[in-house]
Amino acid sequence: MRWILVGASTIAAEYMIGAFRAQPGSEVRRVVSSSAERGREYAAKHAIPHADTDLATSLSDPDCDAVYISTTNEKHRDEALAAIAAGKHVLCEKPLAMTAEDAAGMVRAAREAGVTFATNHHLRCSGSHRTIRDLIVSGRIGKVLSLRIFHAVHLPPHLQGWRIDNAAAGGGVIPDITVHDVDTVRFLLGTEPLSVVAGMSSSGMGRGVEDSAMSVWQMPGGVMVQSHESFTHPFAGSGLEVHGTEGSIFATGVMTQKPLGRIELVTASGREEIPFPTGDLYTTGVAEFLAAIRGEGRPAATGEDGVKSLAIALAVREAAASGQRQTIHYPDL
Ligand code: NDP
Repeated sequence: MRWILVGASTIAAEYMIGAFRAQPGSEVRRVVSSSAERGREYAAKHAIPHADTDLATSLSDPDCDAVYISTTNEKHRDEALAAIAAGKHVLCEKPLAMTAEDAAGMVRAAREAGVTFATNHHLRCSGSHRTIRDLIVSGRIGKVLSLRIFHAVHLPPHLQGWRIDNAAAGGGVIPDITVHDVDTVRFLLGTEPLSVVAGMSSSGMGRGVEDSAMSVWQMPGGVMVQSHESFTHPFAGSGLEVHGTEGSIFATGVMTQKPLGRIELVTASGREEIPFPTGDLYTTGVAEFLAAIRGEGRPAATGEDGVKSLAIALAVREAAASGQRQTIHYPDL
């Protein structure tokens, strides 16, 4: 598998190039940057043979089979549609697009073209979250009553660019972190929110976009979810709790890009620590994407997952902006 990177990004440099190269027979062949100089420097630093400023030039390379898109969010849709039209498989960063309808159009285009399309929601690939899901599915906590997810972090200085001041590029904590939390909860509970109420604020970092959000989601069967995301909390720590009729799961430090954290299960029998696998999240995600291309299973997070998670995250923002409960409308897929 030969990859084209669309976007000379931090996430590709810090995690994805390594994840691609960890797959047998995979290589990173080209990078596309809007700046010739940045593209050249990035290619040299990461030993990528070709740097282009024109997406079409990269896509015309018949030796490349797959495209990873990690530009700023407003560019994802058009780049993905171009890659799909060129017959490439696409792993696209979250949020898939600026609107859920646009994201649905990307999924439909990939389906019609017969290429594999996936969303890079890495948390589904974490051993911790897969273990929590297994605990829930195997009935260890009985009937699920509620879930609380807390993901208020301090955005590191090198990421304090478009995320905190550029709404047109898709900035704000809701498209950045809430969308991940939504996808994680959908993965853990296997159900979709029906409606949300929410609030948001700028608490010291966001300029023209929200840097903090809190929301409460109504799930099927009366289950409730409470979610908190922020860019401005240096010491809050991350995690989630799932409470059921027969037990509670307490997971701390698990909302991260690394296979870290701790899971404890509390039942009538007492408190027990639950071990979990600690493989690299992004390497697992890429491996499952490649398996899906070979016809073996599905990507960890499909395009459909990306659409639904975006629809919910945008409903959180709308609920916060309007002060009104939002019923979630999922686009036709
Ligand atoms: P970056 O800001 O690092 O990169 C985004 C774009 O910004 C790049 O495509 C690049 O444009 C441009 N850029 C990069 N460095 C510079 C610079 N020094 N000066 C000017 N422009 C620059 O973004 P991230 O890597 O943090 O995020 C990229 C995407 O990945 C987003 O969609 C984000 O939501 C997603 N993401 C996903 C994560 C996950 O775990 N799934 C984690 C982090 C991000 P060009 O390509 O034209 O050179």
